[in-house]
Amino acid sequence: MAFAITQTCCSDATCVSVCPVNCIHPTPEERAFGSTEMLHIDPKSCIDCGACADACPVDAVLPVERLTGGQREYARINAAYYET
Ligand code: SF4
Repeated sequence: MAFAITQTCCSDATCVSVCPVNCIHPTPEERAFGSTEMLHIDPKSCIDCGACADACPVDAVLPVERLTGGQREYARINAAYYET
């Protein structure tokens, strides 16, 4: 499984710098940074370490299997960012 970023994402990129496999985008070095509503975790690269969830100042990052109700949509939204 992977972690997913949800609606409350504040896009401050705290999570980006703690991810050991660089699977959260856009990063502040990428042109898209600041133009997306939120940041996204690549579910195919995520190693499920939880570092991003611990670092997130707004508790926006959750394991996919713990998403409930309307949060479940965010598993798809995170994955879709990497399909384009
Ligand atoms: Fe990166 Fe770990 Fe968060 Fe997955 S759980 S996005 S590997 S920091």
